[in-house]
Amino acid sequence: MVVVMKKEASESQVARVLGKIEDLGLTAHLSRGKIRTIVGVVGDNSSVECSTFECLAGVERVVPLLGPFKLASRDFKKENTVFSIDGAQIGGKRVIVMAGPCAVEGKDQIIQSALAVKKAGAVALRGGAFKPRTSPYSFQGLGEEGLKLLAVARDMAGLAVVTEVTTPEQVALVAQYADVLQVGARNMQNFALLHAVGEAHKPVLLKRGLSSTIEEFLNAAEYILSHNNPRVILCERGIRTFETYTRNTLDINAIPVLKSLSHLPVMVDPSHGTGKREYVAAVSRAAIAAGADGLIIEVHPDPENALSDGAQSLRPEEFESLMNELRPVAEAVGRTL
Ligand code: PEP
Ligand code: MN
Repeated sequence: MVVVMKKEASESQVARVLGKIEDLGLTAHLSRGKIRTIVGVVGDNSSVECSTFECLAGVERVVPLLGPFKLASRDFKKENTVFSIDGAQIGGKRVIVMAGPCAVEGKDQIIQSALAVKKAGAVALRGGAFKPRTSPYSFQGLGEEGLKLLAVARDMAGLAVVTEVTTPEQVALVAQYADVLQVGARNMQNFALLHAVGEAHKPVLLKRGLSSTIEEFLNAAEYILSHNNPRVILCERGIRTFETYTRNTLDINAIPVLKSLSHLPVMVDPSHGTGKREYVAAVSRAAIAAGADGLIIEVHPDPENALSDGAQSLRPEEFESLMNELRPVAEAVGRTL
């Protein structure tokens, strides 16, 4: 960072800034111009807040040179982060697809979903057991019973399981059943939860908050990384805008922006991103073309009777044709599916 002194800053005020830099174990580079003095702060100052200097007399402003997040940034790690989800590499050449119902509703429903998405080429089964519903009167999920059913379906179909965890206390339980812990959009800034999944030994699928900026999103990832869990997947799932025709506005820009700012794999959720089944295919194609490393798609054997998100869930045959449609798109951008 660079500390810019006021025009009228006194010698003692400059000295105070230099002293503070020294106290922090960093090195100061003093540059005296005709009009004003600036002080470069050299060394690992990633944990030093701008306010440390902004509060000193004679300081006009502080200009950070590095972004606010460190471990998540491409500056910190140039090459893509690639890791395995039950044998499938995410972040590499292959675009991976996770699919399944919004919520686990029962044994037949989850097994049928698992067999269908596996047959079509998905690598992981999604399904919520703990559902963060907007209304307290909506179906809240089957809880631990749902996790057990996911494990049965996983073993039958040969898929990894991705499922949501909503509180820090649930992490140990959900981690017994899940291959990937999902942190939902509504919990993106639940810092106690981010801390807890950071200490878990499982990959984390972090969804972008409903009204979060990309910087807030990457800072949320930074929480998980800084608690020693390097296996984080960023998931763009649409944000709130003035548009109401679709459930959310999928921020397609976020894909190349996140890929350039961060080394972490980026997935897209076209189901929550649109809220309407008929738009899921187009947005999935766009996401792959824009560089997404994976998709997470809602699929239900009987969407008309789904307990949540039926309107955005694909039927198994629609999912299978979507997968077939996506393969040439992936190939056109140098990927496989
Ligand atoms: C989900 O994937 O089940 C979900 C609730 O999504 P989001 O957190 O993105 O709303
Ligand atoms: Mn859903």
